[in-house]
Amino acid sequence: MFNMGAEPAPRIYGRDKHGIARGSISHGALKVCEILRTHKHSAYIVGGAVRDLLLGVVPKDFDVATDAHPEEIHRLFRRSHLIGRRFKLVHVLFGPETVEVSTFRAGEGGEADEHGRLLRDNVYGTRAQDAARRDFTANALYYDPHDETVLDYHGGFADVRRKTMRIIGDPRLRFREDPVRMLRVVRFAAKLGFGIDPKTRAPIRELADLIENVPAARLFEEMLKLLLSGHAAACLAQLRKEGLHHGLLPLLDVIVEQPQGERFLRLALDQTDTRIQIGKSVSPAFLFAALLWHEVLTAWRNNEGKDMRSIPALYLAMDQVLDAQTDKLSIPRRLTTTMKEIWALQPRLEQRSGKRAFVLLTHPRFRAGYDFMLLRAESGEAPMELANWWARFQDAELEERNAMLIPDSAAKKRPRRRRRSKTGDAPEQAPAQDEPGN
Ligand code: ATP
Ligand code: MG
Repeated sequence: MFNMGAEPAPRIYGRDKHGIARGSISHGALKVCEILRTHKHSAYIVGGAVRDLLLGVVPKDFDVATDAHPEEIHRLFRRSHLIGRRFKLVHVLFGPETVEVSTFRAGEGGEADEHGRLLRDNVYGTRAQDAARRDFTANALYYDPHDETVLDYHGGFADVRRKTMRIIGDPRLRFREDPVRMLRVVRFAAKLGFGIDPKTRAPIRELADLIENVPAARLFEEMLKLLLSGHAAACLAQLRKEGLHHGLLPLLDVIVEQPQGERFLRLALDQTDTRIQIGKSVSPAFLFAALLWHEVLTAWRNNEGKDMRSIPALYLAMDQVLDAQTDKLSIPRRLTTTMKEIWALQPRLEQRSGKRAFVLLTHPRFRAGYDFMLLRAESGEAPMELANWWARFQDAELEERNAMLIPDSAAKKRPRRRRRSKTGDAPEQAPAQDEPGN
């Protein structure tokens, strides 16, 4: 079927050269390869997992590539699903682990748009073709668990050793085929501490605008991977450096012009990176709420300036910012709902009268709202005294809580449209020590 005679041969590295211990590969991935093999298919661990294993990094997940077709794979594994987004794949479940199994495919033969962007690449191919359609040499290594060899068609083995991200084939063409690869190279370089090969890097600035043609939902997915890579701050810095920040998130355009916004973002990103690096979970809604917060603040103040009352002005601002964002990078509704709740809690957290404070504690997003306010306080945008008050109030016994309350009348007498002042409400007690958010 495929021109097997012309099939290029890979370079083969044995156990003594690659040093990957079989024990460092997930049970599920080994099992998938073994079962496919007993059914006369070839199957390899591919992509990021091989790259990470060569680097001595624990892979996030394991992908398998095989010559078996999706329906055949599905039939072999009772606990598996056919997934059909851009391309049909199979998810095989082993307890908590999901192994993604894809059929070898050829990058060529698909349809492209007028900029050269591949709209479909769902043509099955050989192993060599499958290697050639992958993005970077370091991501195109095949590990065969049966004989413990690494197969390398594009020099990825040497590139991993010299810590270089290099695109496979002609950079211009490959970035045109899929502009998201420009974001991917930045993410991998920042995350792995790799350099970008000069020829790969050269056309990025010029092609950066092609990102705008990528469907907004896909852009969101890739951006989320970048933000949750554990190296978000480094990734965003590199995106700016490569001129890739335009049109992604408005914050990336304004980050330098808003000193306070920048401090807030830096804290949010550093906190996210730290959490990921120590294995804690991160809420994407919280993160995106933080990324867009200064946009919301600006729009809020703007609306208040048009004589709107503060709370309606905030709600309008939230919608304005999210609407403007949707065309570029569409944030799914499941996240925007939570983001709005977090934002809407901010002025509510300034009210510390009896009933209100107690009601807020039971709000399902209280913790996220409080953590967000803490971030604002740490960046100098909200009074630290307020954050400290809530830190104490959450942990206090009922009696102490009652004593801490600040009467409503104090708030009611204020003029309408009060500004959130630097000093905030007068504290009735000395603030507690700084309390970390988690
Ligand atoms: P991570 O550690 O972040 O999961 P990864 O390399 O496994 O990194 P994935 O997004 O999981 O990245 O993709 C798996 C593999 O699929 C990649 O290693 C690469 O070979 C291939 N791939 C993914 N996206 C693309 C793309 N846009 N163009 C070409 N190949 C791609
Ligand atoms: Mg992966």
